[in-house]
Amino acid sequence: MLAARYHAAGRPLSLDDVPVPQPGSDEVRVRVRAAGVCGTELHFTDGLYAPSRAPMTLGHEAAGTVDAVGSAVSGWAEGDRVAVYYYLFCGSCRWCLRGRQNLCLAPRGVLAFAADGAFAEQLVVPAHCLVRLPESVSFEAAAPLCCAGTTAVHALAEAAVGPGEVVVVLGTGGVGLAVVQEARRRGASVVAVSRDPGRRAAALTAGAVAAIPPEDAADAVARLSGGQGADAVVELAGVSATLELATGLLGRRGRLVLVGYSADQLTVSPLSLVVSEQRVLASVGSTLAELETAVALAVAGSLTPPVADVLPLSSVNEALDRLRAGDVAGRLVLLP
Ligand SMILES: [Zn+2]
Ligand SMILES: [Zn+2]
Repeated sequence: MLAARYHAAGRPLSLDDVPVPQPGSDEVRVRVRAAGVCGTELHFTDGLYAPSRAPMTLGHEAAGTVDAVGSAVSGWAEGDRVAVYYYLFCGSCRWCLRGRQNLCLAPRGVLAFAADGAFAEQLVVPAHCLVRLPESVSFEAAAPLCCAGTTAVHALAEAAVGPGEVVVVLGTGGVGLAVVQEARRRGASVVAVSRDPGRRAAALTAGAVAAIPPEDAADAVARLSGGQGADAVVELAGVSATLELATGLLGRRGRLVLVGYSADQLTVSPLSLVVSEQRVLASVGSTLAELETAVALAVAGSLTPPVADVLPLSSVNEALDRLRAGDVAGRLVLLP
């Protein structure tokens, strides 16, 4: 089968012909019908961090159909439509038992990080990583739910964003646009911040009340909040400039939600946090239940991460180049 694999940082992914993976007794093989391209792929290809081994098939947003089931698997049959939860969690550690599979202490792998991922015709995962996908959600729409959609659901749940709040979204790529939709669904007024005009337009379509470049953010938040500051700032870039902007926008009891990261540092004065009871939260991925939630929201039509373009798997490096250029408004989706 064809797989787009990382061999080393700074090199394009290689389109390799690899053996079709065989599911173990508790595993399922999925025929990948659509795979979303996340900004995280660039962290690998550009060398921020390396997969646990090389070569490694990248991609952690997969939707498709069940292709083969292991001998001990029940409840799944060939042809079932599925979305894949990308943390291949153990199911028995203290965090899995608390429903926090994204913090699993002993995962079998994490797609693209430590297990072959979605940029391939087929993929093998433990059966408990599958979520049923109704016919009403296309594979192309479902793939971006698996990271972009679920990351939004988790981050805003962690921040307990509620009706009437002012939420700032710093960064309006695939995840950011999903955060805009989900914050709006929770009843918040959303200010989206981006340097790219196309992405600002997409943020308005996704439900932001204002979409502005960074230099206008403070004024927009002041206007919308009556000078009180933001109730939550979701930080998706994780670079010094946006981290500094984020802390400056927070109001009293404002929550800074760190989702993006880079090699840059977060610098914040305890005094400024303490006197306003501001909080710094971090959010990574999502729980398995939140993938089920994301699929249910997609069925209801209230979480539909925008798809910017659909390309064949063989165009994976073109997709990565476009993403790196920073002007893709929504997810690029590959069809293996
Ligand atoms: Zn991702
Ligand atoms: Zn676990």
